[in-house]
Amino acid sequence: MSRPSPISPTVDFDRGGVQHGFLRLPYSRDDSAWGSVMLPICVVKNGSGPTALLTGGNHGDEYEGPLALYELARTLDPKDVSGTVIIVPAMNYPAFRAGTRTSPIDKGNMNRSFPGRPDGTVTEKIADYFQRELLPRADVVFDFHSGGRTLDFVPFCAAHILPDKKQEARAFAAVEAFSAPFSMKMLEIDAVGMYDTAAEEMGKVFVTTELGGGGTSRAETVRIARRGILNVLRHEGIVDGAVEKTRTSWLDMPSGDCFCFAEEDGMIETMVDLGEPIEAGAVVARIHSTGRTGQAPQEIRAKISGLLTARHFPGLVKAGDCVSVIAVVVE
Ligand SMILES: [Zn+2]
Repeated sequence: MSRPSPISPTVDFDRGGVQHGFLRLPYSRDDSAWGSVMLPICVVKNGSGPTALLTGGNHGDEYEGPLALYELARTLDPKDVSGTVIIVPAMNYPAFRAGTRTSPIDKGNMNRSFPGRPDGTVTEKIADYFQRELLPRADVVFDFHSGGRTLDFVPFCAAHILPDKKQEARAFAAVEAFSAPFSMKMLEIDAVGMYDTAAEEMGKVFVTTELGGGGTSRAETVRIARRGILNVLRHEGIVDGAVEKTRTSWLDMPSGDCFCFAEEDGMIETMVDLGEPIEAGAVVARIHSTGRTGQAPQEIRAKISGLLTARHFPGLVKAGDCVSVIAVVVE
């Protein structure tokens, strides 16, 4: 028999109305012997319709999701809901409090920690609670991401190519309803341990985003996030009202050739901006070594033709950093 989760919710998932509470995870430490991590959670329930599980702050330095979800928790009226909306606006709460991608407690990257462990690190215990307690309740799972401190993206909503084509079609329909400027058929470079994979393996409709980055948010990307999440809930029939559709361009990441990585440390010069087209073979970025003058920059060339979808954000790069992502416009 598997060990129960150490996390106890202060909300009742079966009770109607709005509840604001916590997922309380005991965490004994120097400054609090019998202390806990208190993850904010909101449950809005009315009747017996489907359940949506909404998360932001899976990575702690991405802000469009938390900005959209704290507001949704504050404003969603149960009389507009048919079913249940579970909102966890800052999933890796210790990381979110620190403004870092990974947890300051254990360096855990939430999106590489699934299925988690009930007797593991703080990050693994949170992952385990989602894996065994929250994901099984959900019909639709929506997880907000942005680029964080080290990447910046054109704003897109995304789902994965899946072996189950019915599940895939439902996810892409929800992506279309979100109505970001771009919609992505996403390829992962490192899918092991992802929340996405855990949800998809349970047969859930899983939708995610990349909405900007740089360790902050913009007015436009926050507007996209707030409108988009309501659109998805309306599309799924969980919230009343019509989907506010706007034009979206579909992008595809056909292979690993989408990604370019730095092979040297240095100062990065992007040669195209986000959303601009680039041809295969063209220089997408140059990396200048700065230890002495007179040295030619390293040229990083696009392996495919497409549109610059993501770029490294800070001005300095290290060997191995993802410098650019190029996606292909499909319609
Ligand atoms: Zn992220």
